[in-house]
Amino acid sequence: MKISITKDKFNEALKELQKDYRIFAPKVFPKAGVFSDTDLIKYSEIGSYEEMAFHEKSHFSPKEVTLPITQILFHFNEKEFTESKEDEMGTIVFLRSCDMHAVKRVDAIYLQNKYEDYYYKRVRDKVKFVVVGCERSYDSCFCVSMETNRFDEYQMGMSIKKDEIFLDIKDEVFHVFDGEKKEFEMNFVTENDIKVNVPENIELKDVIDLEMWREYDARCIACGKCNFVCPTCTCFTTQDIAYSDNGKVGERRRVWASCHVDGFTDMAGGHNFRQKHGDRMRFKVMHKISDFKKRFGYHMCIGCGRCDDACPEYISFSNCINKLNKELKGGE
Ligand code: SF4
Ligand code: SF4
Repeated sequence: MKISITKDKFNEALKELQKDYRIFAPKVFPKAGVFSDTDLIKYSEIGSYEEMAFHEKSHFSPKEVTLPITQILFHFNEKEFTESKEDEMGTIVFLRSCDMHAVKRVDAIYLQNKYEDYYYKRVRDKVKFVVVGCERSYDSCFCVSMETNRFDEYQMGMSIKKDEIFLDIKDEVFHVFDGEKKEFEMNFVTENDIKVNVPENIELKDVIDLEMWREYDARCIACGKCNFVCPTCTCFTTQDIAYSDNGKVGERRRVWASCHVDGFTDMAGGHNFRQKHGDRMRFKVMHKISDFKKRFGYHMCIGCGRCDDACPEYISFSNCINKLNKELKGGE
C-alpha cells in the first residue's frame, strides 16, 4: 500500500510503535564530530521524524544496532555461567538501500557461514527495516558500481521528497501509518560521481606481491577507523572481564575488532601474519571484493564510501580498487 503522510501523523504512528519497538535512525549529535565545530551523525534511538537525519550520509552505519560494539554474551562465576538477558522489545531501523544490502552481508557471515551465531540471531530475529530512498548521491558513494543503489524487498519503503513523506507499506506492523493513498516511486540514486571497476576472479598469487601495497605501509597509520565505520566489517574479539570485588566472577564480552590495528593477527608464540600496514590493506581489499564473493556470490563492499570519509590519511578504498584493477590489467 502506497501512501503520503503528514509529519504529525507520522509521529503519531512512531509513538504507537514505541510501545513494542525501539526505533533507530541516523541522528545528529551537534559538535561531536571529528573537528570541534563539526557534527556527528550516527544511529541512535529516535522518537520523531524531526530527529531523523537523512539530509546527509551518516558517519557510522546501522551495523551497531544488530551487532553492538560491545555485547555481553554471558556472566560467569567459578561454578557456572548464565546467558545474558535478551531485550524483550523489538527493533525498527530506518536505513538507506546500501545499508540494507550491508545487513544481507552481515547476515551471511553470522547466519549462513556454516554455523548460525546464536547471539546475533536472537537480536536479528526481532528487527524490522524501513528502507529510505536517497535524495542524491553523496561524496565518496559508489553504490551504483557495487549494485547496492536500490533495494526492493523492504518491509516498508520511505521516500522524502522536498519534505513530503511517502510510504510503501508491505509489512502489517507498519499499518499504524495512516495517510492518503498515493502512487510514487522510491527515489533510489542511479548515478554516482565515483565509479569503480572491480577486478573479477582475483587469485591471491597475482596480488600478494604487488608493489602498490607498499604505498600503504607508509600512509596507513593502522588506526582501524575504516573498519569501525564499515557496515560490512564483522570481525570481533572476546574479552573476559573479572569484577574487581571478586576476580572469579565476571562476564564475557564480544567486542568489535579491526584487521588494520596492531595485534589482530597475533598468534601464540608471538608470530604476527601481517606486520606491514600495506599487507593489512591488501587483506581487507581481498576480503571486500574477492574472498567473500567466492563464498557467497556477491561482493562484501557495498560502496558506501564511509571508509574514505573516515580515514585520517585520506586513503581512498574506491581509488585502491581502481588501482588494483589497473595493475591486474597490466597498467591499462
Ligand atoms: S565503501 Fe568502505 S566502508 Fe563502505 S562497505 Fe566498502 S569497505 Fe566498507
Ligand atoms: S582509516 Fe586509514 S589510516 Fe586508519 S586503518 Fe584505515 S586505511 Fe589505515
